[in-house]
Amino acid sequence: NLSIITTFLLIALIPGSIFILMLYLLITPIRKATELLQLNSQDGILRPVLFTTPIRIRELRQLRDTYNQLVYTARQQQARLEQLSNTDRLTNIPNRRAFDEALETTWRRLKRHQQSVALILVDIDYFKRFNDHYGHQAGDDALHRVAQALQSCAKRTDEMAARFGGEEFALILYIEDANSLDATRHRISECIRELNILHGYSSVSHLLTISFGIAWIRESGQWLDRMSKEEWLRAADAALYEAKASGRNCNMLQMITPDVPFTESPVWQQSPD
Ligand code: GH3
Ligand code: MG
Ligand code: MG
Repeated sequence: NLSIITTFLLIALIPGSIFILMLYLLITPIRKATELLQLNSQDGILRPVLFTTPIRIRELRQLRDTYNQLVYTARQQQARLEQLSNTDRLTNIPNRRAFDEALETTWRRLKRHQQSVALILVDIDYFKRFNDHYGHQAGDDALHRVAQALQSCAKRTDEMAARFGGEEFALILYIEDANSLDATRHRISECIRELNILHGYSSVSHLLTISFGIAWIRESGQWLDRMSKEEWLRAADAALYEAKASGRNCNMLQMITPDVPFTESPVWQQSPD
């Protein structure tokens, strides 16, 4: 009888062991992978399948590796797409879309922290005449060079130079104090002058020049709740308008403080370089 019971137990043990082995080698990894795939499809984030224990079944490993390769390819394509949608094709610098996002992020940060930031709108002087006389291709080349020069003025990762539209550019730059603002102002004009692009049809210089308007928030903080980022932009635009009105190839400054948050005409003006 004992031998019958032992035989019976042994016979029962074999399928039991096979089941445990299957559970460990096959079902648990498949279940974990399925959970991850469900999570991926729920929140739309592509994560690779990673197991904490080694996978012993070759086919499962191949399935995991092929899927992960797809995830990495899709991630690369996503990053490339994002970069393309944020870059201006002609000038290869951030476009208006990227600028709007950066402005939003900067604005939110400014309300939380005490920072000193300038928003600068740049416009090329007499650019229509440049195009008319030298041709559209020469105009495109000049735009590209101006864009690259302006981008060299935005050094920090949280700074930016973007093509705002047409022959206009926008910069967000961190400024420590009045002296550093002066230096920045000078640097922007200088980097365009150094390009040495001839413009024989400009009324202000024999070289291509720019005018720009600066809206400087000297010390940000919660008081900015009373203002909007659109007003900040309008302040820079008003300063640019003043720069154009006073003869071009110059820049104007509007300082934004808690006492004088924003006016339609710049409070401080800067003489041409
Ligand atoms: P102002 O000094 O008042 O700014 O005069 P402006 O001639 O620069 O300004 P206006 O707005 O009259 O003309 C802008 C010109 O910019 C017109 C257009 O031909 C040119 N422009 C805008 N986008 C591009 C572009 O992508 N490529 C080229 N080549 N030219 C462009
Ligand atoms: Mg313009
Ligand atoms: Mg112009």
